Amino acid sequence: MRAAEWRDRGLDPDRCAYCLRPIGPGDRDVDHFVPVARGGADDPSNLCPSCPDCNRGPGGKFDRDPFEWLAEAHPDRLDFFRALFPEVARA
Ligand SMILES: [Zn+2]
Repeated sequence: MRAAEWRDRGLDPDRCAYCLRPIGPGDRDVDHFVPVARGGADDPSNLCPSCPDCNRGPGGKFDRDPFEWLAEAHPDRLDFFRALFPEVARA
């Protein structure tokens, strides 16, 4: 189950993984941390709960390099995601 997997990885299914704003089933996007367009896997290990704004709104993540986007949009979350995706952070 996706919510349990997210909790196991330190992600709150009821908050956007990036801006930490509360989200519910009606406005919860499932974001590919490494975008599929950039070779990201369509696999639970690459999925994060996200608000629509962070995923695809103005200034959102879309198909951008995830760490480049984080550094601009949510630098306070860089350390968390570096720990969660160390192999991506090094690339
Ligand atoms: Zn967000």
